[in-house]
Amino acid sequence: MFSFSSKTERNAELRQDPITGKWVIISPQRAERPQEFDTRPRRIRHGPCPFCPGNEELTPPATLIKPNVSASPQEPSWKVRVVPNKYPALVDSEDCAIESGIYRGRTGLGVHEVLIETPRHVQGISDLTREEMLDVLEVLMSRLAALKSREHLRYVMVFKNVGPLAGASVEHTHSQIIATPVIPPTIEAELAGTGEFFRGHQSCIYCQIVQYEIAKAVRTVQITPHFLAMCPFAARFPYETWILPRQHNARFSDLERGLWGELIQITKDLIQRIEQTIPGVGYNVILHDAPLHDDVPFYHWHIEILPSTARPAGFEWGSGVHINSVFPEFAARSLREGQAS
Ligand SMILES: [Zn+2]
Ligand SMILES: [Zn+2]
Ligand SMILES: [Zn+2]
Repeated sequence: MFSFSSKTERNAELRQDPITGKWVIISPQRAERPQEFDTRPRRIRHGPCPFCPGNEELTPPATLIKPNVSASPQEPSWKVRVVPNKYPALVDSEDCAIESGIYRGRTGLGVHEVLIETPRHVQGISDLTREEMLDVLEVLMSRLAALKSREHLRYVMVFKNVGPLAGASVEHTHSQIIATPVIPPTIEAELAGTGEFFRGHQSCIYCQIVQYEIAKAVRTVQITPHFLAMCPFAARFPYETWILPRQHNARFSDLERGLWGELIQITKDLIQRIEQTIPGVGYNVILHDAPLHDDVPFYHWHIEILPSTARPAGFEWGSGVHINSVFPEFAARSLREGQAS
């Protein structure tokens, strides 16, 4: 199974470290991306934008389109497009276990899609209108439902990279969806932690965090009727911020439609606060959701926002311990004092 061949004819593989149990994706297709292995400071590439209207042939055919039904002939015919990633980390192939002596892996089965959030060539969440974000949320919910119907997929990670330091290789605002046949290690760790707390306390640790932080008001950034934005007690990165639903809810797709607008507003506000506090900063937005099929009532979905102020270095990679140069209490106060829209 582990025979070597040229990168283009070899499909991606998921491999498990036999010592730590952590999964990695070996994906030769990714190496064909523009700028891969270019060790100079990352810059957004130039040339025609593959996500702008009129350039649809530069992406693979769309999986899902939200049409702009009232568009005039001069306007783009779509509001949101979901397309397969041209350089996928995983491919929709046959799922098959790989065993070789002490090593375990599986074929790199999965789905890697790009959600183009608007036909307008803008760069981030603060450039999107509330209506555009509502369209994005609607399309995202429908992709999550479609991926959930695929039994061999166990997890869907939704994330957004804004700015070259955050890993964005295309400027035009977009999110990515990666569905995997395994549960990622970060989520496994959160499931283990929430499950253990639930067994010991008959309550959810995230719910306890929400109550404690609102009562203390030291690391809170913004509180709305149904959501809390806060800097976590053990923030790994400067200005790391989480958005949590205040009411217990394991699964993001169970979020009622009536609360979408409120979630969009607190997210836009938070990004604006971050951009005011650290001008020009990029960021990653990551949705942490329950696995697709597992019954995990003790889990509590949330969004993590990680401004790209610094990259992990030797000690972080070597030890798994992050060194954060900004106290989350200070970060929260600065973000609170920054203006929201
Ligand atoms: Zn564009
Ligand atoms: Zn909870
Ligand atoms: Zn998380």
